[in-house]
Amino acid sequence: MTMQLDKQEVLLGKSLAQLTDWVQQQGQPAYRGKQLYQWLYDRGARTLAEISVFPKQWRENLADYPIGRSNIHYRSIAPDKTQKYLLRLADGLIIETVGIPTAKRLTVCVSSQVGCPMACDFCATGKGGFTRNLKSHEIVDQVLTVQEDFGQRVSNVVFMGMGEPLLNIQEVVAAVHSLNEDVGIGQRSLTLSTVGLPEKIRQLAQHCLQVTFAVSLHASNQPLRQQLIPTAKHYTLDSLIEDCREYVRLTGRRVTFEYILLAGVNDLPEHALELAQLLRGFQTHVNLIPYNPIQEVDYQRPSEQRIEAFANILRQKHIAVSVRYSRGLEADAACGQLRASRIP
Ligand code: SAH
Repeated sequence: MTMQLDKQEVLLGKSLAQLTDWVQQQGQPAYRGKQLYQWLYDRGARTLAEISVFPKQWRENLADYPIGRSNIHYRSIAPDKTQKYLLRLADGLIIETVGIPTAKRLTVCVSSQVGCPMACDFCATGKGGFTRNLKSHEIVDQVLTVQEDFGQRVSNVVFMGMGEPLLNIQEVVAAVHSLNEDVGIGQRSLTLSTVGLPEKIRQLAQHCLQVTFAVSLHASNQPLRQQLIPTAKHYTLDSLIEDCREYVRLTGRRVTFEYILLAGVNDLPEHALELAQLLRGFQTHVNLIPYNPIQEVDYQRPSEQRIEAFANILRQKHIAVSVRYSRGLEADAACGQLRASRIP
């Protein structure tokens, strides 16, 4: 099984053309590729044995062939109907995925790695360390799993679960293409979020994706950013902002900046003014994320008054700003609360 996974023999994540090649290699006519494609992406087949339109003998021979689906190991439901899933991968590792329903949408927050090596001070995932990158099919599977479990089409996907997507660019870009072309979600309804790494934003820009691109800024000056994000010491704020400007030039897409608000740490009026100065002349949108508590550190979420005051300073400086209160807090499913280690 592991060998097949390494060779990326699993079927999920493959395009119609690749699946057609595969069925032909198996000695089947080309039209079976289309059937396989529909059963994988529309009907959620988990084994080849259940694809009833395939010849019986062939199905039986391939009953154990890896499709690439995970199993739901555990789910918890928050009062706001957000559901957190622990999914068991083929090699037994566990990842977290969150389904976030609203009146008109169903958003899935996907993981891109098992754990995360970035070790941001305020984030639960980073406290648990890093195990491995996810394969593209393991990302696509998360979306299909939530879609099937809710019995509703997924409208949006945010790469804001466990992991740093830009440390896994190849598989993340493949997953974006598959979610777009095979699962049918518009690229603009997909959001990639990164803490930013030297070279990586430019590398991503080469792929010219039309996704929404978000950068976790979280600080208005370099010393403060290094304090919150240890890896930032290898990447100055000025280089990060310059790479973001280059991203806009190369892709024609805007960049959103995420800014977590930690009471008394980065939420003072002087920080808002400094942030406005940093982003001067940049057509952007700032997403303020009030901190969601995690056990290991004693940061506090600012009062609503402080949050509004911070947002208002940015607005006065003509920066588009919104406050994003995370969903799923009660299920430990909100931003920054995902961790693989706490398996019930
Ligand atoms: N590694 C990527 C994506 C995962 S985190 C990134 O850093 O962008 C998704 C978002 O949740 C990031 O903006 C992250 O900084 C934020 N986040 C992490 N911990 C949080 C917490 N405790 N409260 C609120 N947001 C948090």
